[in-house]
Amino acid sequence: MPKIQPATRLRTCRSCGKQFEYPLKGHSSTRHHCEECVLVDPELRRVTERLFLRIQKLELALKKLTPPSA
Ligand SMILES: [Zn+2]
Repeated sequence: MPKIQPATRLRTCRSCGKQFEYPLKGHSSTRHHCEECVLVDPELRRVTERLFLRIQKLELALKKLTPPSA
């Protein structure tokens, strides 16, 4: 019986915000982290996640500050 492959989905990495397909054959990415960030030390990854959240907040705040283009 052939194994049923779950549909790949586009996910956003929690650490760097990169969009990646998951699951992807031959890739070590996890549901929450891309291939690159999965190699990062978990302690360090916690920091990058926190920083990424701050960046997201700043980007949102910046968007509100930017006047709508004519
Ligand atoms: Zn990443």
